[in-house]
Amino acid sequence: EAKSDRSSKVTAFSMDLRQRLEEKVTLEKDLWRALERDEFVLFYQPRLSVKTGEIVAAEALIRWQHPERGLLGPGSFIPACEETGMIINIGEWVYRNVARQQTRMQEAGIDISLSINLSPRQFSDPDLIDKILHLPEETGCNPERLGFEITESVLLGDSEAIRMALARMKKRGYQIIIDDFGTGYSNLAYLQKYPIDVLKIDQTFIRDLKHTAPITRLIVSLGQVLKVRIVAEGVEQGEELDWLVENGCDEYQGFYFSRPVPFDDFARLYAANRERQELLARMRDGQG
Ligand code: C2E
Ligand code: MG
Ligand code: MG
Ligand code: MG
Repeated sequence: EAKSDRSSKVTAFSMDLRQRLEEKVTLEKDLWRALERDEFVLFYQPRLSVKTGEIVAAEALIRWQHPERGLLGPGSFIPACEETGMIINIGEWVYRNVARQQTRMQEAGIDISLSINLSPRQFSDPDLIDKILHLPEETGCNPERLGFEITESVLLGDSEAIRMALARMKKRGYQIIIDDFGTGYSNLAYLQKYPIDVLKIDQTFIRDLKHTAPITRLIVSLGQVLKVRIVAEGVEQGEELDWLVENGCDEYQGFYFSRPVPFDDFARLYAANRERQELLARMRDGQG
């Protein structure tokens, strides 16, 4: 009895394992096919000045337009890409396409920065920095209008290679952005060691301002001391934005203003916001 019980458990376990393995292999095959068939899409989420309400930047966020399963968010495939290493190929697709879209925005007179997420794993590509430095020649983009978002974990390795990589990117004009700040190991010493332009406070802080206000205020003043722009992520409510105004945070991003949207929608959103800004300015000057 006991023995057959155990063996059936073992079988169930290995079935489960096999199924999961098969699913992973299928997903990986699908992802390669998706890259070939151009099924990935970039959405853009605006980043605004807290003080003026102007759109100053946008973050590129990948989606997968799956032929059967519909539009998929990065949470459902980026972890697998990181695990298999194909994030290097998909990441390359991302920065090339964002660079091209930056060129298009420039041509349309939209003078803002676009930012690109880089996974830690992408730094294991020995050609990553050369490929990134080549983007302006390849696409006509303005490197001063492109930023790269990396997480604290990339910097904690404290490796000379990372320091050199970031220095080369910075020298070419790119902005360096720390993403999800405050969720890593919070070793503050690294902040002075790297050429950082922007710190994005992780959205968990904004979600829970009732408890995190003292720390969040500290991060904002850290930005003033280090001369780094501070961005609040995940702003969903007017009260959160009010808090950021009162506490002198530089920029914000979140569903309160807009969810990430396709490129053409973003261009329309930008135009409408600029019109509103101009109208407000005329009213202030007493000409409205
Ligand atoms: P992230 O870089 O921290 O991006 C911010 C995420 O927060 C996005 O989720 C965005 O849609 C979401 N978000 C923005 N505002 C709000 C808000 O007010 N409330 C809430 N609840 N969420 C908000 P998304 O697009 O699902 O991306 C998740 C993560 O996937 C990103 O986090 C980033 O780590 C990764 N990712 C996205 N695109 C890329 C990419 O092109 N390359 C790489 N390597 N990673 C990417
Ligand atoms: Mg990001
Ligand atoms: Mg983030
Ligand atoms: Mg993140």
